[in-house]
Amino acid sequence: MADLEVTERSRLRRSHERGAFDRETINAILDAGPLCHVAYLIDGKVHCLPTFHWRVGNRIYWHGSAASRMIKNAVQQEICLTVTYLDGFVIARSAMHHSVNFRSVMLFGKPEIISDDEAAAGHLKNFVDGIFPGRWDTLRPMSDQELKATTVLSMAIEEGAAKIRSGDPVDDEEDYALPIWAGTLPIQMVAGDPVPDARTDTSMEVPESVKKFRLGRAD
Ligand SMILES: Cc1cc2nc3c(=O)[nH]c(=O)nc-3n(C[C@H](O)[C@H](O)[C@H](O)COP(=O)(O)OP(=O)(O)OC[C@H]3O[C@@H](n4cnc5c(N)ncnc54)[C@H](O)[C@@H]3O)c2cc1C
Repeated sequence: MADLEVTERSRLRRSHERGAFDRETINAILDAGPLCHVAYLIDGKVHCLPTFHWRVGNRIYWHGSAASRMIKNAVQQEICLTVTYLDGFVIARSAMHHSVNFRSVMLFGKPEIISDDEAAAGHLKNFVDGIFPGRWDTLRPMSDQELKATTVLSMAIEEGAAKIRSGDPVDDEEDYALPIWAGTLPIQMVAGDPVPDARTDTSMEVPESVKKFRLGRAD
């Protein structure tokens, strides 16, 4: 897998040693969960919208209501999409050296609309099955009207970077002798137990697709 080209825009200036441009690292962060933020302009003003993304090969996808201002505006410009995981607090011996362990990706590009309904449905299947493997085929099929009301966007993963911090605090050498506790507080996002809704037949088992959910899915 070829690395992403380092551009003037994507080159890390601060803490550049924490940066990565290889697709393996970038894909692993993109695939670790569905939450992303898409930044774009409406009438020259910056907006940043939280949404879900999924990846297939070297493209990233997200969706929205066909009526969404994000959809209408995002396809007319270059957007910036970010994915971030907080992996822990880094607790140092001085306020200045407190930090965070994290994994993040920032991508730049121009999204395109998947205009073919059948292709869009295929992408939405990837989205649903990516979170709950096999669930799409167990659902009532999407109606034509639902498909029309849903727009799928796609963007090539060509320009961007990953940035990762891990490990202990880095204190000033003379501060290590101070009697101050320092270390890390790991943070993880975990799923709870599935809760059936009030109208689900209580004799029904939780489906395999839901049982198979896990954050950080790599398959
Ligand atoms: C939860 C969290 C908390 C943070 N807290 C701080 C903080 O308190 N202080 C601080 O200085 N920084 C913090 N960072 C790092 C922050 O995201 C930036 O990397 C950093 O501030 C440098 O910003 P800059 O504009 O100087 O980036 P530059 O190095 O100028 O950015 C240039 C290019 O590098 C790439 N890049 C930069 N940052 C990232 C990133 N995070 N992920 C992916 N690509 C990136 C992009 O391609 C960007 O266009 C935090 C990050 C996270 C995830």
